Amino acid sequence: MNLRDLLALPSILDVKRVIAVQPHPDDNEVNAAGTLMKLSRAGCEVIYVTVTDGRAGGWPSVQNPEEIVRVRTEEKREAGLKIGVAKHIDLGFPDGGDYSGEEVTLRLVEIFRQERPELVFCVDPWMPYEAHPDHIKVGHAVAKAILFSNNAILYPPSADCSASPYQVPQIAWYATSYPNTHVDITNEFEEKLESILAHRSQFDNETWPLVKQYFELSAESAFQLLSPSSKGRAESFKVLSNLELHSIPSTIFS
Ligand SMILES: [Zn+2]
Repeated sequence: MNLRDLLALPSILDVKRVIAVQPHPDDNEVNAAGTLMKLSRAGCEVIYVTVTDGRAGGWPSVQNPEEIVRVRTEEKREAGLKIGVAKHIDLGFPDGGDYSGEEVTLRLVEIFRQERPELVFCVDPWMPYEAHPDHIKVGHAVAKAILFSNNAILYPPSADCSASPYQVPQIAWYATSYPNTHVDITNEFEEKLESILAHRSQFDNETWPLVKQYFELSAESAFQLLSPSSKGRAESFKVLSNLELHSIPSTIFS
């Protein structure tokens, strides 16, 4: 029995309000589109928080940062329609920029208190070999916000946010090297690819056939962990209770 069972936390497919925090405008689709589609179609309210503006994701014909941000914001909205996203919250930090993790944590504490999600999705900042500073910084900021959104001493209610402290029960890390939960997305997989391709500026180019093949093989491998004797596609997560984010050495094996 693990800690989540002991706490009787619901399955990640059995919650009614989630926030998916992404460092960049396409991370949620790449890593969790199938699962987020399943949730929205089951009546769950899916809220996106996009931390950076994507300005570093230029392409040969467009290198102007303001134009990149405009295009990527439109693409994100289009992808969100395919997922069934109910609300977008854009924090607007500069992609790859010199913002601090604590600035992100402060904003997230406010959002978690206002929106009161049952589950938060984000990139796993403890994935070995992850080198992108936005992924590491945002993942750590999410973990800290989950740990302290219920702490009114460290993060007192402010004039900007008077919502009362709130404890986020659990987190589903995506892009993780330590998955403990696999979701069957066989029926959603083609739509997942369409939602990724809604980010045309990033994916609709000569590398797409190779990238698509990688997504297919990754999803097939994930499904093998769910059901070794049959074929299908899955997404993998490291799902943890909030308690496992502090001083629990066995969390890595959870
Ligand atoms: Zn990213």
